[in-house]
Amino acid sequence: MTRKTKKVGITGKYGTRYGSTIRKRVRELLTPMKQDHRCPRCRFYRVRRQSVGIWECRKCGYSFTGGSWNPISDPGRNLLSTLQRIRDEKDKQ
Ligand SMILES: [Zn+2]
Repeated sequence: MTRKTKKVGITGKYGTRYGSTIRKRVRELLTPMKQDHRCPRCRFYRVRRQSVGIWECRKCGYSFTGGSWNPISDPGRNLLSTLQRIRDEKDKQ
């Protein structure tokens, strides 16, 4: 299969509109979003975005909330590590 776009990727649909810098930023956001992500339940890379912040695994049907652009946003990751640390400290006591 030949590639239809050389480097515009997902922003090819915008043609020459909106300016190249904006298209580049959109591309950086959307390209990882469109890839398959790992399911937190079955561990298969079958998670797709259903809607903003809603993710669903097409293997086990598990759906969960997450970041708008990624299943786990940076603030979400911080929250998870904080929770883990609190649990660890509780175990020590
Ligand atoms: Zn799954």
